[in-house]
Amino acid sequence: MKVYKVYIDPGHGGSDPGALGPTGLKEKDINLGIAFKVGQILQRHGISTLLTRQDDRRVELIDRVKMANNDRADYFISIHANSASNPAAMGTETFAFPNSDIGTKLADAVQKSLVNEIGLANRGVKHGDFFVLKNTKMPAILVEVAFINNPKEEKLLKDQNFSDKAATGISKGILMFLGMEYKEENYIDKNISPWAKDAMEWATDKEINLTDGSMPKEPISLERLITILHRYHNLFGK
Ligand SMILES: [Zn+2]
Repeated sequence: MKVYKVYIDPGHGGSDPGALGPTGLKEKDINLGIAFKVGQILQRHGISTLLTRQDDRRVELIDRVKMANNDRADYFISIHANSASNPAAMGTETFAFPNSDIGTKLADAVQKSLVNEIGLANRGVKHGDFFVLKNTKMPAILVEVAFINNPKEEKLLKDQNFSDKAATGISKGILMFLGMEYKEENYIDKNISPWAKDAMEWATDKEINLTDGSMPKEPISLERLITILHRYHNLFGK
């Protein structure tokens, strides 16, 4: 089984707040919250997930791209909130790089699933020449969850429940695109013997668990076992 590596890119950060809402909500904070949650969801499905920033710091676009390229990520997902001079602008849109067929397919899946989950106006998939889309070597998309400058949508973006839903929508889209089935948060827990739970969580956290965790009692192949030992060695054996 291939372990996909997905880079999640929370837009802006540090001295660059991104767009601002009418009550002062900062795009950088919303992006980070959603990105974290997407990372958790994908991780629990056995996908190796990395973030271009994990806290409120400025990371230049070129460095975001370099991280994903150097790490040979399979996919790059940039998360943003939209802004327009018109306060009535609203809805969700997802960008892919022009002429990227795979990027467009990924954008289609994420856009559809995100709109389905959060229920905002569907502005569709668009193509854009953005730096992170252009310079990443892997298929990349940029998600604009909602308009932070629109008072109604700013209010939604502030709501934890809404941003959790947005993260679920984005994750479901990625999983759909990868041909993987979305599993609820406690789905995996239900299948694991209580005594094995700590170890399973640890292995998932350390990216040693090569499965999606849904069938913890299945036998393991030699290649998986050796890959697990190899990863363990790389982590602790030096
Ligand atoms: Zn942005």
